[in-house]
Amino acid sequence: MSNTPFPSKRAPAFADVPDEKWTDWRWQLSHRLNSVEDFEQLFPLSESERKALSQQGLFRVDITPYFASLIDPDDPSDPIRKQVIPTAEEILPYTGMMEDSLAEDRHSPVPGLVHRYPDRVLMLITTQCACYCRYCTRSRIVGDPSQTFSSEDFEAQLDYLRRTPQVRDVLLSGGDPLTLSPRVLERILRALREIPHIEIVRIGSRVPVFMPQRITSELTDLLQQFHPLWLNIHVNHPNEITAELAEACDKLSRAGIPLGNQSVLLAGVNDDAFIQRRLVQDLVRIRVRPYYLYQCDLVEGAGHFRTPVAKGIGIIEALRGHTSGFAVPTYVVDAPGGGGKIPLGPNYLISMSDHKIVLRNYEGYITTYEEPLDYKPPDARLAAPFKKAISESGQDGVFGLLDGDEMSIKPEGFDQLHVRGGSQHRLRADSSKWSPLGIGSGEEEE
Ligand SMILES: *Cc1c(COP(=O)(O)O)cnc(C)c1O
Repeated sequence: MSNTPFPSKRAPAFADVPDEKWTDWRWQLSHRLNSVEDFEQLFPLSESERKALSQQGLFRVDITPYFASLIDPDDPSDPIRKQVIPTAEEILPYTGMMEDSLAEDRHSPVPGLVHRYPDRVLMLITTQCACYCRYCTRSRIVGDPSQTFSSEDFEAQLDYLRRTPQVRDVLLSGGDPLTLSPRVLERILRALREIPHIEIVRIGSRVPVFMPQRITSELTDLLQQFHPLWLNIHVNHPNEITAELAEACDKLSRAGIPLGNQSVLLAGVNDDAFIQRRLVQDLVRIRVRPYYLYQCDLVEGAGHFRTPVAKGIGIIEALRGHTSGFAVPTYVVDAPGGGGKIPLGPNYLISMSDHKIVLRNYEGYITTYEEPLDYKPPDARLAAPFKKAISESGQDGVFGLLDGDEMSIKPEGFDQLHVRGGSQHRLRADSSKWSPLGIGSGEEEE
């Protein structure tokens, strides 16, 4: 491993494994740990962990020897251990818990394709992962070795994409796309690249974290044929940043793939401003840009990982201004019921009035910004060539209120509820009284 400041660890139980096996991803995959006996070779399990591991119907457990080696055997509350080894708390239901909290199934025109946003889709192409995160947002479909997507499913997904020209960005996920055989992955990437309106492809993968050995030159050679290709990894704690992960990310970066990180805010794992600061600073050292920090979803089995939303806002307060701007992720709540990601953060705008706003910075310094007195919006012709693409989706939302002709967004049934018969007994029959005044339109009434 070329000079990296990050450690490389191997649990004593694997000390005798020859290097050529340890560094082979196939060996890592076929020697995953999943039983009480497997784990007890590394450290004694707690009563709660034993109970969960012997529970029927539990979300799948599987951990590569590499990732298990990052667990401190002497720390029962190790942050990596909590992410992958189940506890009895996983069995407990809680208020607000849902099976499909993001309503992904409802947004799927064909199996595995989630089309929620106007110009991009989430394409689930496998149910398999290298290891299984206990707080998995998609535990309802992930993990079952007998249930995954078939070539007919891929065809139906691709077919939908071919006939949906508004989609310009496809995000491959699952499961973990990098657990697919290179042959299948190549076939999907090639088919996507043949669709002219698909401008970019992204992959969401935790393989570089769970099994960095998988990032071979053959794999990066394959991936780099399909540029522009972006990749987001998933690191939650600084202890996951190792010499092996640094090397895997270096290979991906050298293949021209921009890397981002998505992490989940998890109680007892990374719900602390100083841990998060170390995490994002170490990520940028391995050339991975923090992208999202997710509030934990209302998913089954994840109740004990949830934090108050205020925790996330406090973490952003500790990052913005205190460290490199590009190391600060966007904190998001993925809206239950399927509203998509909603960004949250501290308020920096304190007040405003005519031509002046009051702002505060990260230090609490309060200042004003004088706005121009003579600002005129740009000539509409300037934007005209770029406008069509966004306004066609019917998902213009709040921006549509600002930019378009819509005056309001109404809850379902609003109009019916508010028809209380006023039109039958108007105060004056002459309807001209109720016509718009046309203020500012230059058509003042006489
Ligand atoms: C997160 C997500 C995306 C991608 O969102 P970005 O904000 O563009 O990264 C797309 N589709 C679905 C359904 C998602 O959950």
